[in-house]
Amino acid sequence: MKSERVIIGPKDRVFVLTGAGISAESGIPTFRGVGGVWNNYRIEEVANPAAWERDPELVWRFYSYRRRTAAPCEPNAGHRALAELEGLIGERFFLCTQNVDDLHERAGSRRLVHMHGELFRSRCERCEREPWGDRGEYDSMNAIPRCECGGRVRPHICWFGEVPFGMDRIAEELERCAVFGVIGTSGVVYPAAGFVHAVNARGRGKVRTFYVGPEEPENAGEFGQVFVGKAGEVVPVLFRSSE
Ligand code: NAD
Ligand code: ZN
Repeated sequence: MKSERVIIGPKDRVFVLTGAGISAESGIPTFRGVGGVWNNYRIEEVANPAAWERDPELVWRFYSYRRRTAAPCEPNAGHRALAELEGLIGERFFLCTQNVDDLHERAGSRRLVHMHGELFRSRCERCEREPWGDRGEYDSMNAIPRCECGGRVRPHICWFGEVPFGMDRIAEELERCAVFGVIGTSGVVYPAAGFVHAVNARGRGKVRTFYVGPEEPENAGEFGQVFVGKAGEVVPVLFRSSE
């Protein structure tokens, strides 16, 4: 641990990026490591547009399984601490999550973007209709519902090869934050893995950066502060206001 706290000044804008690690203590497995969902399904078989074309039933079995296992999980102290920080600094706070679960919003976060989509939303594969809330489980081919336009209903998830959601807003917030933090991500999935690089490129020392997770990330050197520990233990005592 290079330092004890992250100091937030009265005018500082704070950008936080979260990954699967922040939901691990809520019982949602991370992708990498023992017990990860990757172990039961080959992700390249289920999380890309070609898989959807080839075998939509398999794709929906995977996301139905993930809906079923995520539904009973509750937000943990890490999610709650971020919602509390937003409560304190309001629109100066911005949360970008790679997670598709809904634990951040259930903890009270409002200013957030789900860049990889949302597990409990579906959309039409064909038309421009807005995604809608959906907790359904579609485990056989006949059960996959269709939109009024005739297209099949698909998970509202950003698959490999698709463009993440909210990138314009994310770019804007990366450009104006004074504090940038990353919590619980292995840092191998782009473009999110490159955000720390983007803020550092704004000028040495211009943005204060930190990482939280049980292991030092590959790119630990890119962060001004690294807090080694679990999100649920570190994040609730992480921030201090300099006001
Ligand atoms: P990942 O599985 O690649 O890495 C998880 C990271 O979390 C690791 O670096 C690990 O050290 C860390 N971690 C484990 N326990 C932790 C804890 N208690 N506190 C803090 N950190 C902890 O996850 P990723 O980098 O987010 O992977 C990217 C992809 O995985 C994204 O596309 C995301 O959509 C997807 N994903 C989402 C969920 C979810 O919605 N909850 C779950 C699994 C994977
Ligand atoms: Zn449609």
